[in-house]
Amino acid sequence: MNISAQLMSLDQQIEQKIAEQVRRIEHIAERNQWKVIEAFQEHHVSDYHFAASTGYGYNDRGREVLDEVYASVFKAEAALVRPHFVSGTHTIATALFGVLRPGDELLYITGKPYDTLHKVIGSEQDGTGSLRDWGVTYNDVALTSEGEVDWDAVEKAMNSNTKVIGIQRSRGYDWRKSFTVEQIGDMVKRVKAIKPDVIVFVDNCYGEFTELMEPTEVDVDLIAGSLIKNPGGGIAPTGGYIAGKKTYVDQAAYRLTAPGIGGEVGSMLGATRAMYQGLFLAPTTVGQAVRGSVYAAALFEALGYESSPHWTSPRTDLIQAIRFTSAEQLIAFVQGVQKASAVDAHVVPEPWDMPGYEHPVIMAAGTFIQGGSLELSADAPIREPYIAYMQGGLTYAHAKLGALQALQTMVDRGLLSIDF
Ligand SMILES: *Cc1c(COP(=O)(O)O)cnc(C)c1O
Repeated sequence: MNISAQLMSLDQQIEQKIAEQVRRIEHIAERNQWKVIEAFQEHHVSDYHFAASTGYGYNDRGREVLDEVYASVFKAEAALVRPHFVSGTHTIATALFGVLRPGDELLYITGKPYDTLHKVIGSEQDGTGSLRDWGVTYNDVALTSEGEVDWDAVEKAMNSNTKVIGIQRSRGYDWRKSFTVEQIGDMVKRVKAIKPDVIVFVDNCYGEFTELMEPTEVDVDLIAGSLIKNPGGGIAPTGGYIAGKKTYVDQAAYRLTAPGIGGEVGSMLGATRAMYQGLFLAPTTVGQAVRGSVYAAALFEALGYESSPHWTSPRTDLIQAIRFTSAEQLIAFVQGVQKASAVDAHVVPEPWDMPGYEHPVIMAAGTFIQGGSLELSADAPIREPYIAYMQGGLTYAHAKLGALQALQTMVDRGLLSIDF
């Protein structure tokens, strides 16, 4: 794999350094694996549930039971798990449109949400059918300089129209801390003390199975996520899930299909088995990916780069942010990750204007599922302060190879030297 002897000796040091952290990650993966198996058993998952339906998909038992299994895993009243969600953004938008009505306000208390949601929120009468276009107002409260929720500002911002409180668990493309489930639980208590009937929504993308609990276990009303991230286990070909209070999940289902139809109709397009199998594998695969993130953080920190989270920090998502000092380093890093892929290692990613993003983005994604980011992938918006975001790896060995190839590519291009 063209990794120098020098880097391989550094690898030995890093492995020793992270051993204790790895044990914690494996413990979480094991418990979550058991939790998922328990949910399968509870709902008597059988071979016939994996069969494909056609047309309306009436009485598709596989679809119905999959919803129930997800609800059990997330300890939620209900869930909606479908291949018809085209992406995480679509899933989140469906949840928000499901519960918000004209005149209501959506208030994000963890700063501005993920880039692709800005157009969902929209601007005044943009004609796109955005939330704003439908008369749903929006506000957000920036995090404090310490990365905490600014409670004084939240109290001021909440008003009689505030219907949904938005929380983003993962850092997304921001240099900020991700919020643990425990922290999210505290947020729920505080906003409900201010306004008991508010609906708390959590964008759970990248968070699933990184901790022992999920946001729905700390009184969050509604969560959404993507199946080409954590809960799809790298196997689900596409799709998303929504889970939470039954009323809200039903409303989201009416939005996904049509009022009166909801989640009771819909052929699963032959994806059901992959969605079950992916969920089964997800806790273990997420554990492998998290271990890869911790390894990458420790590796680049050893060379003087700042990373977030630090390798010793407890994890609540997959994303590892590493701060570089130039666009060249970012590009070398991402291209190096691509070189480690089993798929498309021979192509070289370049920055491009991706739909939904506000800066050119370079992405390494040598994946089996297009854009699947529980698989080893790296993204970097080409803007200061030159931060690369790396995530995933269906196996730890692959995630580690990605970090090493990224570093080797930087060394080969003379962008850093390693002397020790
Ligand atoms: C990935 C992600 C999204 C959007 O998902 P897409 O599948 O890219 O549309 C939203 N929020 C967060 C935090 C994410 O990580």
